[in-house]
Amino acid sequence: MTKAIALGPNIFRIPTLGDFINTFVLVNEDGSVTLIDCGVKKAPKRIVDGLASIGKHPADVTRIVLTHAHGDHAGGAAEMVTTTGIDGVTVHEEDAQYVVSGSGSPVDKTLRLGRIFYRMPHGFAPTPVSDRLVDDQLLDIAGGLRIHHTPGHSPGHVSLVHEPSSVMITGDAIWNMASRMTWPVSGFCQSYMMNRQTAHVLGELEYDTVAFTHGPHITENARESIRGFLKRKGQ
Ligand SMILES: [Zn+2]
Repeated sequence: MTKAIALGPNIFRIPTLGDFINTFVLVNEDGSVTLIDCGVKKAPKRIVDGLASIGKHPADVTRIVLTHAHGDHAGGAAEMVTTTGIDGVTVHEEDAQYVVSGSGSPVDKTLRLGRIFYRMPHGFAPTPVSDRLVDDQLLDIAGGLRIHHTPGHSPGHVSLVHEPSSVMITGDAIWNMASRMTWPVSGFCQSYMMNRQTAHVLGELEYDTVAFTHGPHITENARESIRGFLKRKGQ
């Protein structure tokens, strides 16, 4: 059964497809729960199992935040909205329309991979949006969750910092597949070059642990690891 992994006080990672795709859980002071991302269409069962492993139930979920409008993050969102009984998800204002329509955000069709990806079904079930995020917004979640708009992978892509636990969540700006940091696959990006530029924000933020939507988290020398990656691959 899928178990949630503690990243710090009141913050957990639920691996929904091994370490390849993660959902995050933040626990508020009153015991209520915020989810970040909902994996692929089949992920909700694993998310519910992961919640149960820390004594939580879908009815405890009061908010769902999406890092961006792609099927491997929003694929389970419609079902989780129904299961939890909330009004809709929270997403950056520039990705909201793609979540509502379920179309997924656009990809870079100037790239061969982008053209191929565009022809593949990459949408997901249309999902209601209750809140729209902007850059640098501080959400009153588990003591403070800061939104950093890092567009490129999608127009409204965000990275997040849970300030009390000092955990930074990259979103898809940087992957850590098989414990090796990489850029996201270019064909999945709206603008691969813009992603490479805006990811530099992640080297300037303050955090002790870095968590990835794709791949295992890093607790030792997290910031130095991100900075090293950006220095090596960031030009
Ligand atoms: Zn992804």
